[in-house]
Amino acid sequence: MNTRHYIVDKDKPDFRLLDQAAAVLRQGGLVAFPTETVYGLGANGLDPRAVAKIFAAKGRPADNPLILHIADVHEVEKLAKKVTANAAALMAKYWPGPLTVVLERTRLVPDAATGGLDTVAIRLPDSPVARELIRLAGVPVAAPSANTSGRPSPTTAADVLADLSGRIEVVIDAGPCGIGVESTVVDCTTPVPTLLRPGGVTLEMLAETLGEVEVDPALGGEHVKPRAPGMKYTHYAPAAPMTLYEGETEAVATAIAAAAAGLVAAGRRVGAVVADETARLLPPQAATATYGARGDLAAAAAGLYSALRYFDAVPVDVILAEGVAESGIGLAVMNRMRKASGYKIVHCE
Ligand code: AMP
Ligand code: MG
Repeated sequence: MNTRHYIVDKDKPDFRLLDQAAAVLRQGGLVAFPTETVYGLGANGLDPRAVAKIFAAKGRPADNPLILHIADVHEVEKLAKKVTANAAALMAKYWPGPLTVVLERTRLVPDAATGGLDTVAIRLPDSPVARELIRLAGVPVAAPSANTSGRPSPTTAADVLADLSGRIEVVIDAGPCGIGVESTVVDCTTPVPTLLRPGGVTLEMLAETLGEVEVDPALGGEHVKPRAPGMKYTHYAPAAPMTLYEGETEAVATAIAAAAAGLVAAGRRVGAVVADETARLLPPQAATATYGARGDLAAAAAGLYSALRYFDAVPVDVILAEGVAESGIGLAVMNRMRKASGYKIVHCE
């Protein structure tokens, strides 16, 4: 299959191109499209055969359920048996946006999309391209990130094509995504909602709206089974093994610089995913991908996946990564970094 590449303006996308892509979705094909978080790999979420193509193209385990994307808030009523008060409050405040709610599903939702769970994950994205595409398709669009399973998520159309060229009908290209990490997933079926995956709508924002919010204990480490099935898999991993340094800022920078110098001296090819300030401390032989100024958490989120993917193009033997503060969107960045490292973490004080 020859993947068609449609380039559109992110705020005023060409209607005819989106309509052609929407027709592909209606006919059961695969369309990758930009959202404000990362690029999604879309299929008709009500068509089990179309949904199955997503799993095949990505190599995604069948028990990892998909998020259904909608263009109008009223679509929720068709997909969810009951919109709980907590879900309604979150939807009113953060939709359209990077927030996914998990609710009890109706029978309209096929098993293929939910991995057989009796709940469904739903999001109304903010990106005009995504919303217009979904509206034109006229169906909920099932869409996980448009990468090969286990690889860093795509934040550009080039990332999508690197993984999925020839496996999907269309990629819609509207430039890099603004947020850069996947949506926040909140289970709203429990009396106190539970954060299953941190993302662009931060824990602080959830707490402000809900009063009380639980955090899935699995987010704390690798030994607890997560309630979002997908969170248990190795994820976001670059090709080379990565070690994450976290803790006190100066100690982290010093430890990374020392490790890089030692590895370079031993003849290893070193890659570093670090803040600008730390990049200046590294030996010139180390390849660096910076994610912006230290403390700029939005920049770290936006730059993380492209930094991880950079070291597949510039091959290295080992990657050293610098952690960020765990507040705001930093919680999502650290969650992805820890998983990308396979929990190989050096704590610095
Ligand atoms: P992705 O679309 O690749 O970013 O992944 C979607 C995430 O949402 C995965 O971590 C899924 O396990 C999670 N998810 C989707 N549906 C559900 C559900 N019904 N219950 C809990 N987690 C879900
Ligand atoms: Mg994904």
